[in-house]
Amino acid sequence: MFGRRRERTSPAEPPASPAEGTPPATRPRPARAPSGLRGLGLRARPSGLGERVRSIFGTLGPQNDAAWDAVEEALIAGDVGATTTLQLVDAARSRYARSGGRGSEPARAALADEIRARLSGIGSGAFELGAPPSVILFVGVNGSGKTTTIAKLARRLQGEGRTLALAAADTFRAAAIEQLRIWGEQLGAAVIAQRAGADPGAVAFDAVTAAESRGLDAILIDTAGRLHSKAQLMAELGKIRRVVERRLPGQPRHVLLVLDATTGQNGLAQADGFSQEAGVTGVILTKLDGTAKGGIAVAIADRLRLPVLFVGVGEGIDDLAPFDVDAYVEWLLSA
Ligand code: GDP
Repeated sequence: MFGRRRERTSPAEPPASPAEGTPPATRPRPARAPSGLRGLGLRARPSGLGERVRSIFGTLGPQNDAAWDAVEEALIAGDVGATTTLQLVDAARSRYARSGGRGSEPARAALADEIRARLSGIGSGAFELGAPPSVILFVGVNGSGKTTTIAKLARRLQGEGRTLALAAADTFRAAAIEQLRIWGEQLGAAVIAQRAGADPGAVAFDAVTAAESRGLDAILIDTAGRLHSKAQLMAELGKIRRVVERRLPGQPRHVLLVLDATTGQNGLAQADGFSQEAGVTGVILTKLDGTAKGGIAVAIADRLRLPVLFVGVGEGIDDLAPFDVDAYVEWLLSA
């Protein structure tokens, strides 16, 4: 539902290098038209939450207060977040009572409807590149999957016939620049970069200039995920933003926060920080294939009012799917 299986040449194909986060040594495959979430053949494995909810309603019965208390606990454990969960369960319970239904399936459906309503309320999956050039800043902590996600989105945009370049404004780590260069080679996309330690604002300036002078549809800018302190990191992101804004008013059009779904509520705290300081416009939730929780998207929508635009469902370059509310809720509550 959330992605398709990677079509590796060989399932045992080794990565290009044992270094963490190094792109796999696959040859670039011809870009394919991106598919939506539905009909992709592979589902990210169930979140586990659906099974718990089903079993709670099945055992205790939705007429029972204890059942809703247990559902509350399950949602909190599934990363939906305490505040959101309490409101959600209250609303689902009233909806269930109003529905006149009996038994566990209508109760589960009421819960699904409430989650859907919260997610739909802030929009979803509607990633519009906009008129060229579109400057896209990627922010997020190291290890969240930022670089891989940049490559995945670049691939997707190329599949739609868009021209683009990548820019390495994480100058704090030499490895980050190198990693982006490798992806650029695989994608056949230019990588705007300077040496490690260079001013990230200068890289961003070059990137925007290149996007304009080359008539590109998009420039995807990587940024640092860690500096000496969080305050420094946020100041740097703010500076990159301002450089881009001054160079090209109205840009960056998108500031995408890459968030690892397995980090749970800690991820929510990160999202809060980045959204306040970096002006995040949307979230890409990675590693949904590797979490037994996954409710974080509900918390992000409800608490931060940020749309989740894409989900990452694997390490391969095609493992990125637009966020589809119905498909997500079905996945979250599937047993
Ligand atoms: P960065 O430090 O934020 O740039 O993170 P990287 O892009 O280097 O990714 C860190 C690790 O997460 C790498 O091993 C990636 O292959 C992996 N990764 C990224 N996205 C996903 C995803 O959606 N699912 C899984 N399972 N792994 C991912």
